[in-house]
Amino acid sequence: MGVNFAPHLPKPESCPALVLNADYRPLSYFPLSLWNWQTALKAVFLDRVSIISEYDRQVHSPSTAINLPSVIALKKFVRQPRYPAFTRFNLFLRDEFCCQYCGSPHDLTFDHVIPRAYGGRTSWTNITAACAPCNLRKGGRTPEEAQMIPMRWPHRPTNQELHTRGRQFPPNYLHESWRDFLYWDAELES
Ligand SMILES: [Zn+2]
Repeated sequence: MGVNFAPHLPKPESCPALVLNADYRPLSYFPLSLWNWQTALKAVFLDRVSIISEYDRQVHSPSTAINLPSVIALKKFVRQPRYPAFTRFNLFLRDEFCCQYCGSPHDLTFDHVIPRAYGGRTSWTNITAACAPCNLRKGGRTPEEAQMIPMRWPHRPTNQELHTRGRQFPPNYLHESWRDFLYWDAELES
């Protein structure tokens, strides 16, 4: 697309679109489903999404001017997985960004509750958030050997559970047009 930008306005790169499923819930929370403006506009032109809300920011092509979408919704529902991906962020979120041995929020690392040398796996059910001092103190020992029992034994969370946790730890940047969609569930639940 031959697109011109007014230099005094925010760069289109800083105008991502929040992507909602066809039921108007975010396609994903962690990470938050955001598309850059090019991907969002392409989906609009392909008629795959509806524009729910727009930035006060236009881009111009030779033939047309269009406001950059800030919230878009898929026209076709995408079935959501019940369980979230096993990622560092999701694991910390499950453990509320706290060491599961002492509760400290500082210097967090990952601990194999059952050490790898004992056959412990790198999985939802064997990794816990641990601060560096606790991780060091526990070393290659089992919880029984080290007398260090996690407050919550690691488990695989559902997306719903992570979503509930995530409300305590909102992302750093939220465009105002996203808020209705991000906290909609929360309002229904309370
Ligand atoms: Zn600790």
